[in-house]
Amino acid sequence: MFETDTIAAISTPIGEGAISIVRLSGSEAVDIITNIFQGKDLKEVESHTIHYGKIIDPETNEVAEEVMVTIMRAPKTFTREDVVEINCHGGLVSVNRVLEIALHEGARLAEPGEFTKRAFLNGRIDLSQAEAVMDLIRAKTDKAMNIALKQMDGRLSSLIKKYRQSLLETVAHVEVNIDYPEYDDVEEMSHEMMRKKTREVHAEIEELLSVAKQGKILREGIATAIIGRPNVGKSSLLNALVQENKAIVTDIPGTTRDIIEEYVNVRGIPLRLVDTAGIRETEDIVERIGVERSRQALKEADLILFVLNNNEKLTEEDIRLFEAVRGLEFIVIINKTDLEQKLDMEQVLELVGDKKIVSTSLLNEEGINELEAAIADSFFSGDIDSGDLTYVSNVRHIQLLKQAKKALEDAMDSLEMGMPLDIVQIDVTRTWEFLGEIIGDTASDSLIDQLFSQFCLGK
Ligand code: GDP
Ligand code: ZN
Repeated sequence: MFETDTIAAISTPIGEGAISIVRLSGSEAVDIITNIFQGKDLKEVESHTIHYGKIIDPETNEVAEEVMVTIMRAPKTFTREDVVEINCHGGLVSVNRVLEIALHEGARLAEPGEFTKRAFLNGRIDLSQAEAVMDLIRAKTDKAMNIALKQMDGRLSSLIKKYRQSLLETVAHVEVNIDYPEYDDVEEMSHEMMRKKTREVHAEIEELLSVAKQGKILREGIATAIIGRPNVGKSSLLNALVQENKAIVTDIPGTTRDIIEEYVNVRGIPLRLVDTAGIRETEDIVERIGVERSRQALKEADLILFVLNNNEKLTEEDIRLFEAVRGLEFIVIINKTDLEQKLDMEQVLELVGDKKIVSTSLLNEEGINELEAAIADSFFSGDIDSGDLTYVSNVRHIQLLKQAKKALEDAMDSLEMGMPLDIVQIDVTRTWEFLGEIIGDTASDSLIDQLFSQFCLGK
């Protein structure tokens, strides 16, 4: 499964930035560039150096592009193979031409994620790090980016390895007790020791899972719905959020933008304002599709921004909206505080319960900071910024962590029932295997192929 042919792809997002890079990886990479490069003899240059020159189309002998070429020799490269990066300054046309020439010279067009796959197969990174590369490509905010970076940095991996080691020692201990009962100097693994070990690891997995939701939110954005009667200020709120918080620019090749969603970045937290088109055109979704169905739609939102008009008494429609959001995560925004207060605050407080209330005058751009603080607060308790937590944001990781946790719980149940330890350790071993899948230790080839095919081309 270890490829040795040389792969090539455009490794910068299509159409973004002034520089585009064609990346080659494989044993022929330096030969290929040498054949098409006019400038220094790239076979003679030191590794990890960059050189100015021209790419010549060998068929026509024409200059295709002026370039800077970086030569990086194995093994100190991302793929642990020889890597050549051709920095083209022109647009899409010239970078495509350079890629074509490289392919013509014997490189093969890389499959999506193939560079990262090679890095994994050559032992440069483990599976969770490879997935982090993918998350990084898709990260929508700086915070999400930091998580991906940390993961790539191997923090999740090292935690997982620690848990596995602990479980493995436990299993090995039981094995020794069973296989070599005559070894008196090996203390007998007791139910109590086993209970302690499984509890420890169980608590750690739970901790990881508890921050997983935040990780997911950071990666995918908080699905946010703005609701309220006509004319209370929903559109104004949307515009205020969009203006204050530059929409996040993520032009990822291969992804289509959903026109009815708008991303804003509130204090590092991505809000995915859903049904934006609905707010803009036909007022709120309750009006459009009725309470029952809108309640269903609201359930899919992670956060609801519920706007009231300070200048009017509560209407029946407001009350219906309060009913629709009951039990959901919402923040009440009392808008138009610049106008006379006609809203009965006592009544409002009763309906709001323990949820947050923020007063705004969107007209005068007042209260927006407070609203942003309230939004941030709803999702992150104080220590989110400590930067020390290892967030698990990948759906596959979360799934495997849950399976691992379940297997551990099976083991703990067996312990409670007083089952013999060699039975208990079957579930402990399963836990160990689930955790191993996260870092690719027990992952099958097909899983690996599937994972890497999700990558953007050229990564
Ligand atoms: P929507 O129908 O809920 O989307 O409400 P809009 O955002 O379209 O606002 C309805 C009207 O209220 C517009 O004329 C806004 O200019 C006005 N408006 C919005 N916010 C405020 C505010 O804080 N104070 C005042 N006085 N008017 C506001
Ligand atoms: Zn509106």
